Amino acid sequence: MHFVLLDRDGVINKNRPGSVCSVDDFELLAGAADAIAALNRKGYRGLVITNQACVGRGDLSSTELDAIHRLMLEQVAEAGGEIEAIYVCPHRDEDECDCRKPKPGLIMQAHADYGFDLAATWMIGDSPRDAEAALAAGCRAALVRSGTRLRTTPRTGVTVFDNLSAFVRQLEDRRQA
Ligand SMILES: [Mg+2]
Ligand SMILES: [Zn+2]
Repeated sequence: MHFVLLDRDGVINKNRPGSVCSVDDFELLAGAADAIAALNRKGYRGLVITNQACVGRGDLSSTELDAIHRLMLEQVAEAGGEIEAIYVCPHRDEDECDCRKPKPGLIMQAHADYGFDLAATWMIGDSPRDAEAALAAGCRAALVRSGTRLRTTPRTGVTVFDNLSAFVRQLEDRRQA
């Protein structure tokens, strides 16, 4: 099976100053739900890999985070797409966990659950942290300009796209593979 690993904020939904701390703050980026549906039609399953330090800071309860994710899954489903699982790091930098991007821990958790080929799998994000995590895990790294965090030219080995739709358009069709 083929997978695409997706950062959440800035890739699927709009970034907020601070972070998305309630259902009311959650707004899909234009075309993102359709892009996930298109990704599924090309034979890929989508997994979300997201840092949510707002949980560790106490700005967002896990109950509210679950509500935000239910809304995201519903809105993606309305477009005919499916996100198979959501991996969350709730920690802050100072917690020094193994899962907060740019560390590869969340990707490795997903890999332990689904066993995909790391070297053949894209991780797409909007922050250099996402690309660092992807490369540290041995994945292919892509960044989109639809977030707010891509201010510099990324390092070698990172491919840049305007948004998730543009990324999905260039994905190889894997249905027959
Ligand atoms: Mg992001
Ligand atoms: Zn963590």
